[in-house]
Amino acid sequence: MLAARLGSATDDQRIGLPGYWPAKSRLKGCRHGQKGRRPRRLRWWPVASYRIRTFGDPVLRRPADEVTDIDGRVAKLAQEMHAAMKEANGVGLAAPQIGVSKRLFVYEIGDSGPRTIINPVIEDAEGEWEHEEGCLSVPGLWFHITRAKRVRVRGYDLDGKEVSYEGEDMEAKLYQHEVDHLDGRLLLERLDEEQRREAMRELRRRAQAEHAGQASAAGR
Ligand SMILES: [Zn+2]
Repeated sequence: MLAARLGSATDDQRIGLPGYWPAKSRLKGCRHGQKGRRPRRLRWWPVASYRIRTFGDPVLRRPADEVTDIDGRVAKLAQEMHAAMKEANGVGLAAPQIGVSKRLFVYEIGDSGPRTIINPVIEDAEGEWEHEEGCLSVPGLWFHITRAKRVRVRGYDLDGKEVSYEGEDMEAKLYQHEVDHLDGRLLLERLDEEQRREAMRELRRRAQAEHAGQASAAGR
């Protein structure tokens, strides 16, 4: 999931830019991981609750498998991913983020309409663009990340037709962010060492606070 914000925007302003901002109230993640083995063919579909997988879930670290057949099941998965993305107020969602280790992502940015790109490849990356970037799989944290300013993404749509889109700034960032997910990379890996240490400290602090909250709720 790609999310981003402007440094000085207030929450209300962020909400006023539909599609860009994760709704914080919906960011409750889950740490259920998948087993390391490849799921059986009939089992790689997500269950009905589209929990956004968060940092610590092994599915986010695993390079996703190529989609070999673009069939009705892929179409259904894409449809479910679009629904999950909308519910989380995101602009993009990669399949591993809902626990499906397959190379596809969905997005909707500007007036693109909903799009699905299967087996995407980034090409023709040019320039640099630094911007604040967030990810629903690393909820509540934002980082300045430099990425290519312009890229082309090539892949396949749900009809199996080859597609190619050129994007700049936010759109270019989205393509790079989502393809990173398919390669098992989170935005934390785009940080410099100091930023990353700080982020890890914060994530540990949050995990402990969450754990303490659960323990006290269970003790009631
Ligand atoms: Zn993301």
